[in-house]
Amino acid sequence: MSNVWFITGSQHLYGDEALKQVAEDSEIIAAYLNDRVGAKVVCTPVVTTAAEITAVMRQANADEECIGVITWMHTFSPSKMWIDGLKTIAKPVLHFSTQFNEALPYSEIDMDFMNLNQSAHGDREHSHIFAFMRKSRKEVVGHWKDEEAINEIKTWVSAAKAFANGSALRVCRFGDNMRDVAVTEGNKITVQEKLGWSVDYYGIGDLVEEINAVTNAEADKLVAEYKNTYTVVTDDIDAIREQAKYEIALERFLSKTDATAFTTNFQDLYGLKQLPGLSAQRLMAKGYGFGAEGDWKTAALTRAMKIMSENTATAFMEDYTYNLVKGEEAILGAHMLEVCPTIADGEITLDVQPLGIGDREPPARLIFGSKAGEAIVVSLVDLGNRLRLICAEVECISTPEPMPKLPVASAMWKPYPDFKNGVKAWLLAGGAHHSVLSYALTKEHIIDFARMAGIECVVIDKDTKISDFELKLMLGDAAWK
Ligand code: MN
Repeated sequence: MSNVWFITGSQHLYGDEALKQVAEDSEIIAAYLNDRVGAKVVCTPVVTTAAEITAVMRQANADEECIGVITWMHTFSPSKMWIDGLKTIAKPVLHFSTQFNEALPYSEIDMDFMNLNQSAHGDREHSHIFAFMRKSRKEVVGHWKDEEAINEIKTWVSAAKAFANGSALRVCRFGDNMRDVAVTEGNKITVQEKLGWSVDYYGIGDLVEEINAVTNAEADKLVAEYKNTYTVVTDDIDAIREQAKYEIALERFLSKTDATAFTTNFQDLYGLKQLPGLSAQRLMAKGYGFGAEGDWKTAALTRAMKIMSENTATAFMEDYTYNLVKGEEAILGAHMLEVCPTIADGEITLDVQPLGIGDREPPARLIFGSKAGEAIVVSLVDLGNRLRLICAEVECISTPEPMPKLPVASAMWKPYPDFKNGVKAWLLAGGAHHSVLSYALTKEHIIDFARMAGIECVVIDKDTKISDFELKLMLGDAAWK
């Protein structure tokens, strides 16, 4: 169970009575948030000295369950006391600018009330020192019962869960990146330093050995499950059984290597009869990350976003084809096979069809259309001197007409602020053709996650203006040099 620590700052100026009240109120707020933000909220004793602040931050660092700390100023807590503690804390920080008392009691207010309820005063001193130290944190403003404020904390908690999982996130690469492709490359050491993800190579032969060890009985049991779950529209059960073996073998291999994400490369399938299609889709549906063509960055990002979204409506995706008819412009996203069925809308069919590339037998795959609704498309690229997360808000739409000959799963979307400018911004930012599409997450999740990791994040949304966007990219280049 993940938990976040709720740390209230104060000082000894106000006397024991006031501090007792501060502690009681902190417990009430923490308990209220505990039920609502998606993690256990642990209320720590009120901190009133530099030594106490440093000590609690050290404890937070050492606590394996703790994924971040929330700080709150009921009163004023001089910020020089916080310098050492803020240097110490290595976990994500959220400053909650809230006040215990919601309404100002105009007819009753006196100096006693002001001394106890002075969050406006304390917040400014508190955040000043973050600004001075260039210490990143999320600022959330509002009463602690305000739904919007609680949702902002909840979003941060989801991002913190994925960030905390970083050092446990291992990507198993079967083969290298696809030959000649630029955007799937990157510095694995930078990625591990910033995000914790470790990315390791395994020969495809290691997987083939695991596949050969799967018995027909084991595979047939899984084929029976497929028949119960999907609409099977092929007689080629042998081809489906082959993918069942891949699914079992991949899961065993990932478990043995402590990996939660993997890549394949259709140029490197030595010993495999099919490109893993159905098997990759099934593993993604179980929460594993996946990247095609050796794209380990997107494999890991898929896994991270599946943690953030608790594995709902989040899929590996690829910008594939445009509809450029005026007024109907949209992007059709798909992949050769590997789209996660957590984004499926309606019936999911299981079919076996030839694959134009890859020089292998026709692979089994799940085919479906995707939901309509608001979503984000996210790409992680390496610009040589830094990582950049690109997050675009999009509107997913139902395809205007059926596509009976398309033998793969797909999703269709219109980028914001409009097709032309959305695509233009993505291209200017160097966004990849591979991405992660999520209906469950918002740009706030990605912004919070990037802030925790200390990496650049550019957002393309309803407010994007190309001239401003280009300027932002230029400033980013200067700032991240
Ligand atoms: Mn691809």
